[in-house]
Amino acid sequence: MNKDHAQQQTEYLRDNDAPCPRCAYNLRNSPSHRCPECGLDFSQIPVTHLQSIYTDAKLERRLTRIALVCILIVGPVACVLAYAASIRPVTLMTIAGFVTAVACALYADRTTTLRHIRASSKSLYDGTTGYGTLALLIVAIMGFPTVLIVVKLLHEFAG
Ligand SMILES: [Zn+2]
Repeated sequence: MNKDHAQQQTEYLRDNDAPCPRCAYNLRNSPSHRCPECGLDFSQIPVTHLQSIYTDAKLERRLTRIALVCILIVGPVACVLAYAASIRPVTLMTIAGFVTAVACALYADRTTTLRHIRASSKSLYDGTTGYGTLALLIVAIMGFPTVLIVVKLLHEFAG
């Protein structure tokens, strides 16, 4: 742990509210660099990011989950379409891509807080890690097909 860092944190938390990056517990006047509520070690986080890291991580987690929903809806349809076209290599690639995308999204979701803590100690941290951008890209690409599929399914069930 960086000594100046820890000292800066203690001084900052004496006069300021800051939510725990994981559980949002107010760390003001925290006696150590561990959250009294969930036990998270926040000693690596620069004071400049302490205030916003919880909301930044929450936003990225939300984006990741929206991306996961898109993947879970569009993926199986793509697999079925590839299978129906009876091009075996394409079917296999689609299934492999679908499984990989789901695994990556689940991993990104589970590691959001820790990834943000790690990234915040680097000078280039702007409140997001690469996964946030990637999730946004997935939502941008799959958002429309997802809505179309959901509308179609609702229509089938209603009719
Ligand atoms: Zn906590």
